Amino acid sequence: MVEGNVVVLVIEDEAPIRRFLKMALSDHGYTFKEALTGREGLDKIAMERPDLVILDLGLPDMDGLDVVKQLREWSPVPTIILSARGQENDKVEALDAGADDYLTKPFGVPELLARIRVALRNMARLAADSTESEFNFGNIKVDLVRRQVFLDGTEVHFTRIEYKLLVTLVKYAGKVVTHNQLLKEIWGQGYGEESHYLRVYMAHLRRKLEADPANPKHLITETGVGYRLKV
Ligand code: CA
Repeated sequence: MVEGNVVVLVIEDEAPIRRFLKMALSDHGYTFKEALTGREGLDKIAMERPDLVILDLGLPDMDGLDVVKQLREWSPVPTIILSARGQENDKVEALDAGADDYLTKPFGVPELLARIRVALRNMARLAADSTESEFNFGNIKVDLVRRQVFLDGTEVHFTRIEYKLLVTLVKYAGKVVTHNQLLKEIWGQGYGEESHYLRVYMAHLRRKLEADPANPKHLITETGVGYRLKV
């Protein structure tokens, strides 16, 4: 699939990973740009206005988390972070600070391309200020106006909290939503630590919507991070 003039800025100090990304992105029609430090990355985002940023959390001059925080003060550019194993907390903090998604090293090209497409699609949807009245995935339909959920055309009853959880995942479809973000959207600002609430309600959602709740196809757990609605 050729993506036209989509410019991707990679902020990463490790040359082998930059080379890998350059090849993968160029092969698939993206325009590749690079920065080797956080400072250079922020400058290039400001000056060159990329369509998407891929940001390593471990940079030589500043923490990738601080890059996300600074960036989000003035730019909504979709940002996918790269984390190494053992950076679980940094990854979650970066998502809470406004990063859109993450990839854990090592990762493959199909996964990279899928994450890029989701991030760009979400951006387009937000930009269009979409007022779509229904959302479909698999054999499930969510009527966002009437607040009804249908499985194979038959209405499934949802409690208020269950519905809110589903709709929050729908809003960020394809993208990981952290425990913290879900708790704040559903229960309010005072919440953030009660991820066991989410486990309980996700189990309800899976029981109601998934053919095999133990092996969900749509309501995916991102271990230690949050959940993702896979469409
Ligand atoms: Ca690095």
